[in-house]
Amino acid sequence: MAYRAPVEDIIFTLKHAAGFAAARADGLYEDLGDDLLEAVLGEAGRFASAVLAPLNVPGDRYGTPFRDGEVTTPPGWKEAYRDWAAAGWNGVAAPAEWGGQSLPRAINAACIEMWNAAAMAFGIGPVLTMAAVDSLAAFGSDELKKTYLPKLVSGEWMGTMQLTEPQAGSDVGALRTRAERADDGSYRITGSKIFITYGEHDFTENIIHFVLARVAGAPDGTKGLSLFLIPKFLVGHDGKLGARNDLRTDRIEHKLGLHASPTCHMVYGDHGSCVGYLVGEENRGMASMFTMMNEARLAVGLQGVAIAEAATQQATAYARERRQGRAPGMAPTESLPIIAHVDVRRMLLTMRSLTRAARALCYATAVALDRSHLAGDAAAREAAHERAALLTPIAKTFSTDIGTEVASLGIQVHGGMGFIEETGAAQHYRDARITQIYEGTNGIQAIDLVTRKVPLSGGAAVRSYIDQLRHTVDAVTAANDPAFGATAQRLAEATDSLAHATEWVLAILPAKPDAALAGATTYLRLFASAAGGCMLAAEALAAARGGDFGDGGADKSGRIAIARFFAENFATQAPALASIVTESAESVLTADAAIGAS
Ligand SMILES: Cc1cc2nc3c(=O)[nH]c(=O)nc-3n(C[C@H](O)[C@H](O)[C@H](O)COP(=O)(O)OP(=O)(O)OC[C@H]3O[C@@H](n4cnc5c(N)ncnc54)[C@H](O)[C@@H]3O)c2cc1C
Repeated sequence: MAYRAPVEDIIFTLKHAAGFAAARADGLYEDLGDDLLEAVLGEAGRFASAVLAPLNVPGDRYGTPFRDGEVTTPPGWKEAYRDWAAAGWNGVAAPAEWGGQSLPRAINAACIEMWNAAAMAFGIGPVLTMAAVDSLAAFGSDELKKTYLPKLVSGEWMGTMQLTEPQAGSDVGALRTRAERADDGSYRITGSKIFITYGEHDFTENIIHFVLARVAGAPDGTKGLSLFLIPKFLVGHDGKLGARNDLRTDRIEHKLGLHASPTCHMVYGDHGSCVGYLVGEENRGMASMFTMMNEARLAVGLQGVAIAEAATQQATAYARERRQGRAPGMAPTESLPIIAHVDVRRMLLTMRSLTRAARALCYATAVALDRSHLAGDAAAREAAHERAALLTPIAKTFSTDIGTEVASLGIQVHGGMGFIEETGAAQHYRDARITQIYEGTNGIQAIDLVTRKVPLSGGAAVRSYIDQLRHTVDAVTAANDPAFGATAQRLAEATDSLAHATEWVLAILPAKPDAALAGATTYLRLFASAAGGCMLAAEALAAARGGDFGDGGADKSGRIAIARFFAENFATQAPALASIVTESAESVLTADAAIGAS
């Protein structure tokens, strides 16, 4: 079944779970009314469903053939990209000064979800261009901005983001690509990069690579890294394309999934004449790259949501059609659609509730990013910056973990047909798997959460977030609506568990960092269980109040049911997750012999 963009659902979550409505009430989005929100997201949904979704399965089968240094994208993809860029989608959140629309990041986040749900191998390319735009706008010289930003914003050229080398994956500081200063102020780049997404393709006539490298004589490790803009074709002062730069793609990877997205091995400076331009200052490349990576991390979280949504839609449609088994009293010749079976309904509810919780977390991160840029006073901007920093690793990791879990359940709902490529359920699973690995593996995200984000402002950022969750719990309690079942109790236990585990992490981290790291991944899941549960409850409360949702009745009971299911089936795991964090570190740290590490 082809993906259909759930635009109303997306808008409801944005407004009532992720804080978009509150941010708008605070004057953040000026005169951005519902009409514009619905028009933009409605049009994005139409493009995603009508143009991109039909390309997904054929693109997976065709892949990206590589010949003589050139990549051919699947039939129809180039044209779709050009139509997509011509419609202005690349510049939704980009600065108006450079030709973008300066719309909120939260709106762009919803668009990114839809592009990726329709065809993730398509969606990943623009995500990197958008991240490059942010970095260049923040750190580039006026000349670089003038030359490259208008075409990157319009999508006429695409960008890449290049950190990885064979010996430098999670350990970015180990990279060896080198840069030598040239007399004209530019640099000569030598080295190679692996696993570069859309490093070569035929969507655009120029490709602008953003590459981390080390200037000769720079310190070892991440402190010696600088960011360079390296165009595939050099650009003259008149803006016209000049000579081909000294760089090439020498192979592409054969992968588990994401077949229509070329993953390239790049070589720089075969002839010593690869021209690169410094973005920002020498040795400050990680700061510039972090701007790109934070955007890209949220976008990868959105890919998790996207694939989960697509897999859920497909599984639900299949479960309505496929007939197996009977209810008591039915004739042997009759059969039920499998959606009538309790275990299938459990799987579908699991898929739907995890997807919605992850969506709420990602959109809340985007709203926090908007506040960090747009809030009126500096203190509010700084608080929002910390909120976004805290939520980013959770949004990335939880959403991509559940993306794979949900896609796996999607296969299960299909039974044997799920394992057969024909249905498309297997493609979701294959495509989803990379999202847990790239943009910083989920293990690295959990470490970031525990060692850098939880300690922000001495723990004040995380404590204030937990306080906000408690307000939602109080509101569910006050509503006293029997349809919510045990939601209030389960969420109260979950937030208490999160608070307890958080204080434990803060206390143990300075003295025994390994003990905190042993539970980092579990802590992140605990955090998402409490936060996701509260956001779904906030959404359900809004629906119960009548909200502003079209067909209130069905949606009201649906949203309460989803919030209750999540609270009683996932948030309820929080106390156990907290005890894993606080009590089981020893079981990890003393078991070296069991895995042959001692
Ligand atoms: C399809 C695809 C597209 C990609 N696109 C890009 C791209 O466009 N640009 C780019 O620069 N890169 C890209 N990458 C690379 C990707 O970001 C890396 O693969 C990823 O960061 C992990 O690095 P690695 O593969 O070297 O794994 P490793 O770093 O070798 O990690 C292996 C395992 O060890 C764990 N680990 C490593 N170090 C630590 C530590 N200190 N503490 C705890 N655990 C640790 C990891 O979590 C992981 O589980 C892409 C990769 C793929 C497969």
